[in-house]
Amino acid sequence: MVNVVDIEDAYKTYALRDAAATTKDLLKWWDRGHRSMPWRRESTEPVSAAERTTWAYRVWVSEVMLQQTQVSRVAPYFERWMAKWPDVHALAAAPEEDVQALWSGLGYYRRCKFLREGAAALAAPGAQWPTTRADWLKVKGVGPYTAAAVSSIVYGEACPVVDGNVVRVVSRLAACGVAPSSTVGAKLWWRLAAQLVPADAARPGDANQAMMELGATVCTKANPACGDCPVKATCATHEKGEDPARYPAAEAKAKPVKVAVAALVLQTERLGKTVFALAKPAGKDASAFRSDASLYELPAVRLGAPDPTPAHLDAALDAAFDGARRGGARRDAEVVLARTRAAKAVAHSITSTRYAVTVERLVLRADPDDFDVVWLDAADLATRATSSLVAKALKAALVGAAPAKKRQAPPKAAAPKKAPRVVPIAAEAVPIAASAAAPAVATGSPFASFAFAPDEDGVAA
Ligand code: SF4
Repeated sequence: MVNVVDIEDAYKTYALRDAAATTKDLLKWWDRGHRSMPWRRESTEPVSAAERTTWAYRVWVSEVMLQQTQVSRVAPYFERWMAKWPDVHALAAAPEEDVQALWSGLGYYRRCKFLREGAAALAAPGAQWPTTRADWLKVKGVGPYTAAAVSSIVYGEACPVVDGNVVRVVSRLAACGVAPSSTVGAKLWWRLAAQLVPADAARPGDANQAMMELGATVCTKANPACGDCPVKATCATHEKGEDPARYPAAEAKAKPVKVAVAALVLQTERLGKTVFALAKPAGKDASAFRSDASLYELPAVRLGAPDPTPAHLDAALDAAFDGARRGGARRDAEVVLARTRAAKAVAHSITSTRYAVTVERLVLRADPDDFDVVWLDAADLATRATSSLVAKALKAALVGAAPAKKRQAPPKAAAPKKAPRVVPIAAEAVPIAASAAAPAVATGSPFASFAFAPDEDGVAA
């Protein structure tokens, strides 16, 4: 890692080899073909003023969804979003609860809150639709990256975009080992990227998209394909024969904080249907995950220590039950028909916090109205805004299989299916009726519409 304290020094030292030639090569490569995305349209297509506004709305929504989230994950969310709210007026009129419900599983819920608030401001009588980077920056939740992306791609403004992909490509083009998030680095990437879209750039939007595409498909983090790279002729790293993995400079990551949570899957029968309990914590401090997004959660209690004793865990589950039931009660045989516990804690990540969630399932014989929760059947769960933990916990508690791990090896073709990993926690657990004990949650069940999603930060647990 290089320590540079002066931005002007850094700018001179790491100037791109030949920015004009790099942009020309990038555009030629872009024109030969690029990935099709639901939010993309070709800059060569004729477009009316009204279509351009819709295009800007689509790019805006897509860029917000893509922050911290992979393209493959965003695409179906984007399609569902546009089917419901195809323009800013539709989004502005949408109930907040509906917007959050559709966003469930994408994480970073403030993004959708700000999107809706931004749409409401732009749909208000007399509001001016933004067409420049400066005006987009005034929209709620829109930062420098999104403002530059919309204004360059849709309105042809010559301004650079800088995201993680662009930082990687630019640092390699310049063979620059300045720490990406250092004070100098934070300014340097914008200035270097600006060399690729100068004020007189003919197609700044395509140049920016080509840079992002190059970072996502060729100059990747783990496996840069320098031999096939369209800009290798002007790449300093390639010219020096250096290993691209040197750039950008690695930075120390904050150590994740481990937190234990005890959560309950409360299940009962209502009007002939199996229903489950969700509760909406009254504010951030009441949420076991310290979420301020106003999401529905399972009744849960946050434990202080990452490795609680069985007694602590039991007390926490009691507290979660007590909090859910009006008037308070122990989770004992008076109201509990059966209880099981997922054999393994469910892993869940929110930014740098790693949660280990012990999930206990209680089949109740109590009156559902005695509980301060909402009862939903499987088909209705997807209509509420929930953290992705809810889906994972339900799966662990009901199906018993642990959620898929990131980069998990594929199962062997002939491997027998494992039995559900749910264990009774009390020797005296009462057998329960088959319909209550095993609601349909496997393939083809109503749960199919309820995304078993990665964590809030997009990291598959
Ligand atoms: S030549 Fe290699 S390191 Fe340089 S931009 Fe291309 S893929 Fe990245």
